[in-house]
Amino acid sequence: MPAFMEPFRIKAVEPIPFPSAGEREAALADAGYNIFRIPARLITIDLLTDSGTSAMSAAQWSALFSGDESYAGARSYERFEQVVRELTGYPEVIPVHQGRAAERILLHQLLGDGDISVSNTHFDSTRASVEAAGAAAVDLPVEHDETTPFGGDIDVDRLRELLSGPAGARVRCVVLTITNNANGGQPVSVGNASIVRRICDEHDVPLLLDASRFAENAYLVLNRSPGLADSSPAEIARAIFGLADGCWASLKKDGVANIGGLIALHDAALARRCRAKVIETEGFPTYGGLAGRDLDALAQGLVEVTDVDYLRYRAESARWFADELERAGLPVVRPTGCHAVYVDAGALLPHIPPHQLPATALVNELYLAGAVRTTELGTLVFGRPGPSGSPDIPAPRELVRFALPRRVYTANHLRYVAESAERVVAKAADLCGYRIAEQDGGAMRQFTASLLPVE
Ligand SMILES: *Cc1c(COP(=O)(O)O)cnc(C)c1O
Repeated sequence: MPAFMEPFRIKAVEPIPFPSAGEREAALADAGYNIFRIPARLITIDLLTDSGTSAMSAAQWSALFSGDESYAGARSYERFEQVVRELTGYPEVIPVHQGRAAERILLHQLLGDGDISVSNTHFDSTRASVEAAGAAAVDLPVEHDETTPFGGDIDVDRLRELLSGPAGARVRCVVLTITNNANGGQPVSVGNASIVRRICDEHDVPLLLDASRFAENAYLVLNRSPGLADSSPAEIARAIFGLADGCWASLKKDGVANIGGLIALHDAALARRCRAKVIETEGFPTYGGLAGRDLDALAQGLVEVTDVDYLRYRAESARWFADELERAGLPVVRPTGCHAVYVDAGALLPHIPPHQLPATALVNELYLAGAVRTTELGTLVFGRPGPSGSPDIPAPRELVRFALPRRVYTANHLRYVAESAERVVAKAADLCGYRIAEQDGGAMRQFTASLLPVE
């Protein structure tokens, strides 16, 4: 049995569209050459994101029917609370509608003007919350390359230096994002988290987890740590949760459901303050902006996601897909994690300068080749407009992300993506870049910008 074989069979199906070459060309032009603006009905394989795109299990669909829609203290909340307590060990469990609500509510309790949050890397919505609170988000990722097993770790030397230096007194929290999404979905090791715990104790700073991909992190840790091969993903996840003071998560990832988020904490007083904010913006604290049935689907998803057969398939299918893309001629970033495969568009398209958006050129050509949707993580997303009239300040790398929705696509679907990629590679030298015709200038310009091909 190939390690990447799906450890499930299909019970409900949904047809996928196959727009013609002419329809794809028209759709891309109509969307201002911005893949976010193409309607899903014109996408054959959608690898835009792994967020909220999971296929639920039969057990989750059936759990929906036991949803208790009582406004306060619903049984659905009790089931959710129990699962989260067992998983994390944190007694205080607060559901919210998605990850960024958790970040806004929790981080605004901890941070104010002039404060600092330190992380292996703040995810973009996390950074936005930190900055909205008037604080600074400092990223201290380890240097890593294709041989680094734990490329998600935080650089503990630089962390010590920061905490012992003049800015140390302004640090209000240390955040480990597991897995490190902005760093290719690479895992954070138990060893790194243990050292960070000790450093936080020495400086009396709370350690929090952004645990959106806690199960994928646990599997990658057990897979890459010879001494932990006999542990279960749930045990490893529990060990890392045990090192922190609390966590938040977007449950649109490892909750294996379509909506949801949570805050879970040891500190009852902090939880009380968070609940007061939840009431203001999310709803009564036992439903936090979700339906009771969502909490039941999440409670079931949080149990299923730690299944080792599922996680092995998830990691191995990402690796297999990376091999397929490499065979098709794309320069793939290694090692692969679980939730996505990253491709270096800058290396594929060296003739397109960063300000002409080589990663966007690859994304758009993949759409034209097979109605495949991927995301650009290059200068369109991370570049910043230069002083008026000058080109953009480029991003450090021109990456394209092929995200993998959970339990949605089979190897055949991914083979189709690789075949589409092969056709793009064949004409890579002829591809043109893009320029930004209209942008709102905000930090999320990629969602709305209009582009034009540079002929
Ligand atoms: C998705 C994500 C978030 C934000 O969660 P939403 O549910 O999209 O609001 C925060 N942190 C990480 C690491 C994420 O991947």
